Amino acid sequence: MAGESKHFTCVICPIGCEIDVQLEDGNVVSTEGNKCAKSEEFVLQELKEPMRILTTTIRIRGAKWAMLPVRTDEPIPKRLLFKVIEELANIEMQAPVKVSDVIVSDVAGTGANIVATRNMKREEKGKFV
Ligand code: SF4
Repeated sequence: MAGESKHFTCVICPIGCEIDVQLEDGNVVSTEGNKCAKSEEFVLQELKEPMRILTTTIRIRGAKWAMLPVRTDEPIPKRLLFKVIEELANIEMQAPVKVSDVIVSDVAGTGANIVATRNMKREEKGKFV
């Protein structure tokens, strides 16, 4: 039997358990360091295809701030994070934007949407409307 050990940091909740996993022929035979059973699903997903929520910012014009905070509305493959960030680098929004507005649909073909995570009012004659 081919045994190996792997280490993961669980990102499901803010506790961030450091998990040591023993594998035999690609199957999990034991885990240490996890504080709950949710780690099982996390570890299996990490072994198959690591997924992450992306949080970042994009440029916005006509608002008080120059950058709009956004995130994916679901986890996307970790290997596509930089591709998505590159796609977002070409985007500039125009205020106003409301929280949860979809900024990009099916970003980089992931099936996830990029959504705003805060309101950005439009500046008009020194006032924000
Ligand atoms: S193993 Fe459980 S408690 Fe630990 S980070 Fe993951 S979800 Fe949170």
